[in-house]
Amino acid sequence: MAVFCSSCGNSMNDQARFCSACGAPIAGAGVGPTPIFTPAARLIRPRAGRQIAGVCQGLSNAYGWDVTWVRVITVLVSIFGGGAGVVAYVVFWVVMPEEPLALPSGTYVPPAS
Ligand SMILES: [Zn+2]
Repeated sequence: MAVFCSSCGNSMNDQARFCSACGAPIAGAGVGPTPIFTPAARLIRPRAGRQIAGVCQGLSNAYGWDVTWVRVITVLVSIFGGGAGVVAYVVFWVVMPEEPLALPSGTYVPPAS
């Protein structure tokens, strides 16, 4: 499969990292390191299934971990790790965006009957 330069349109083989005609880097072709650890989902704090702030649930959703083990390890690290688990939890709480509401706030949802 050929790739095309985004700046001059020259076609190259897909191993090329730079355009042979103008020298522009080829987008997506060996530019930057290949991600090793790609989350299956975005790292967000879900509204469903949370216990405190949704940090453990969000991590387990994103990486496919069992939420029970995430919580157990968090609690153990909090107790035996000199508070490292608590610090990590608070950091995740601050940096992880909360899952957006499905509906704009204030939207009236009639009860199902
Ligand atoms: Zn080019």
